[in-house]
Amino acid sequence: MTAFFLADGHRLLTLDSLKSSLDTFHQLRDEQPQLVSGIFFLIYVAVTALSLPGAAVMTLAGGALFGLLWGVVLISFASSIGATLAFLVSRYLLHDWVQSRFGGRLAPINRGIERDGAFYLFTLRLVPVFPFFLINLLMGLTPIRTSTFYWVSQVGMLAGTVVYVNAGTHLGQLERLADILSLDLLISFAILGLFPLLARKTVGLVQRRRIYANWSKPESFDRNLIVIGAGAGGLVSAYIAAAVRARVTLIETGRMGGDCLNYGCVPSKALIRSARLAEDMRSAERLGLESAEPKFSFKRVMQRVHDVIAAVEPHDSSERYTKLGVEVVKGYARLIDPWTVEVALNEGGTRRLTARTIILATGARASVPNLPGIEQSGYVTSDTLWQRFAELEEAPERLVVLGGGPVGCELAQAFARLGSKVTQVQRGVRVLPREDVDVSALAADALARSGVELLTGCTALRCEADEDTRYLVVSDNGFERQIPFDQLICAVGRSARLSGYGLEELGIDTHKTILTNGFLQTTFPNIYAVGDVAGPYQFTHVAAHQAWYAAVNGLFGSLKRFTVDYRVIPRTTFIDPEVACVGMTEREATEKGVLYEVSCFQLDELDRALTESATAGFVKVLTPPSRDRILGVTIVGEHAGDLLAEFVLAMKQGLGLNKILGTIHAYPTWAEANKYAAGEWKKAHAPQWLLGWLERYHAWRRGGGR
Ligand SMILES: Cc1cc2nc3c(=O)[nH]c(=O)nc-3n(C[C@H](O)[C@H](O)[C@H](O)COP(=O)(O)OP(=O)(O)OC[C@H]3O[C@@H](n4cnc5c(N)ncnc54)[C@H](O)[C@@H]3O)c2cc1C
Repeated sequence: MTAFFLADGHRLLTLDSLKSSLDTFHQLRDEQPQLVSGIFFLIYVAVTALSLPGAAVMTLAGGALFGLLWGVVLISFASSIGATLAFLVSRYLLHDWVQSRFGGRLAPINRGIERDGAFYLFTLRLVPVFPFFLINLLMGLTPIRTSTFYWVSQVGMLAGTVVYVNAGTHLGQLERLADILSLDLLISFAILGLFPLLARKTVGLVQRRRIYANWSKPESFDRNLIVIGAGAGGLVSAYIAAAVRARVTLIETGRMGGDCLNYGCVPSKALIRSARLAEDMRSAERLGLESAEPKFSFKRVMQRVHDVIAAVEPHDSSERYTKLGVEVVKGYARLIDPWTVEVALNEGGTRRLTARTIILATGARASVPNLPGIEQSGYVTSDTLWQRFAELEEAPERLVVLGGGPVGCELAQAFARLGSKVTQVQRGVRVLPREDVDVSALAADALARSGVELLTGCTALRCEADEDTRYLVVSDNGFERQIPFDQLICAVGRSARLSGYGLEELGIDTHKTILTNGFLQTTFPNIYAVGDVAGPYQFTHVAAHQAWYAAVNGLFGSLKRFTVDYRVIPRTTFIDPEVACVGMTEREATEKGVLYEVSCFQLDELDRALTESATAGFVKVLTPPSRDRILGVTIVGEHAGDLLAEFVLAMKQGLGLNKILGTIHAYPTWAEANKYAAGEWKKAHAPQWLLGWLERYHAWRRGGGR
């Protein structure tokens, strides 16, 4: 490029210069037509590949030298090849850097390009207001395929090439480059360029009409919104609708509050609290007290769990929601058509309701592995254990927990602390496989310290029983092993509820979950899905987050729609010590090829942790190299879930570690660990050259030059 400008290339490639040298060029072409064509082609490729100014003049020259047909052929290929080379240069020099630096913000663009990249490029190529070289360079930063880029460029640029080459054939009459494109021509190109996008939108509209073609839409609706399922997702959807004065009906077949209140978060955390005290009593010596084996009635512990559910229940009750303006109907809902729901009422009889919008918040149920003999030997899942164990006088003596995810780990540790002999069986090589390896190691260590026998890399094969004992048979390092149990808890994941309420009959697309678009719309745009039934995350707070989008899009979508934002999703596993995470883990960053640095602060250096004799754990922050932007945080330790909130806020609001470091944290709190992790990052980025100068400055201030 430098050589081009030093050699005055930019002055040569002008209309005046071309006109004055045309006779010489013609002479050369007549003497050596093939050589001149070849050299012209190569120069054209070089000019476009290096994004040098002058492509327009060279296109005119092509017309003047080679005529319309041959000029178009030469230039069409040369410009497409040159553009693709420029595109590749941009891709190999800048793509990774741009994606790692702006990855989060580019995600929607990347998705759009993956879906509609060819259409966008075609439009950009045809509408002449977008500079040719800029399109090449910018497209290189996106995930569009090189072959797509090439052929769409060639086809898209053809019309413009013909116009310029044709103008070149009448070069003598041309005074300015701007004369080539009249306003009419510009508008025609713009219309031509927008045509494919408009066509695509029209196809979308036609498809939508076809989806509804088999159904007759009611003239009017009884209500604005019907919500099926009163778990976290359904409750929040109904709440928002009532708050904005929509007429909304919430249908629930089971208990208000869904899984979280009745079988999930609430009972498990209540149990974990009792188990924690039992453990604290056993290890009281650690705090200078006498350790004592806790004496307790397991039945009363389980009673407390149910008392806690009862204490939270009013928040989710039908009475409360009725007062808020929601019509609550108890019964089993089934979709009849895209606007009609039939409810088999719990009290008997049926009711048919219609609404313009329906939100499916039907949740998930615990999966049960398909093991031979499991039905005969019996098992519980998180859906059933709270009732079944409530009748037990003692904690199960021998308990097998199948599964090493968050639910399996929480239950294994809690029951071990409450006196069960727990064997936890995990097929993968480590527990909490979503987290980083160091986190899994700490979790495994914590489970072992609580008395859990953890078998990783171990596959459950079948259940067996003899006269008085039931066994889980596993394959442990290639050997079969019988694990005797009194109770077997299956905690191998939760599957979305997809059958029995009309999804199949309507033809709503599903694959493990109900498939939705970014607005949470299902196959039928007026039917939305949220929470565990929609995925991709199975958390109460995500169900509530999605509920806002579904309710707002469902009620106000014709005015404005919002794409659900999954960028900053925190999660906590409530084992002791807690494991909390937001954004990327090291594993994820490595898998996605995102460059990162780690700043880690160990809790054994935190004064508060020392005063509590609870020093296991760390705060680990991932940032892009040398940049103050948080990619992800993992905290292991006491109150990790609460500590994480500061980073969740920082990530959501785009605050970096400097801001956390500059914020006063009360002493001595656990939250100081966040600040110290930020301090680790700062130390690693202290400008060494400046420190060298500062040392000299201080020596000078002391006098004597030392
Ligand atoms: C043991 C355990 C611990 C957990 N701990 C946590 C935690 O600590 N933090 C966290 O964020 N998440 C936790 N979760 C996950 C959390 O419980 C779920 O993500 C959350 O409950 C999902 O809410 P939802 O509204 O999608 O579905 P649900 O809460 O499952 O609600 C769905 C409701 O729909 C009803 N329903 C279904 N079909 C119909 C129909 N056809 N007609 C009428 N009603 C219908 C069901 O009866 C149910 O009440 C835990 C889960 C478990 C199992």
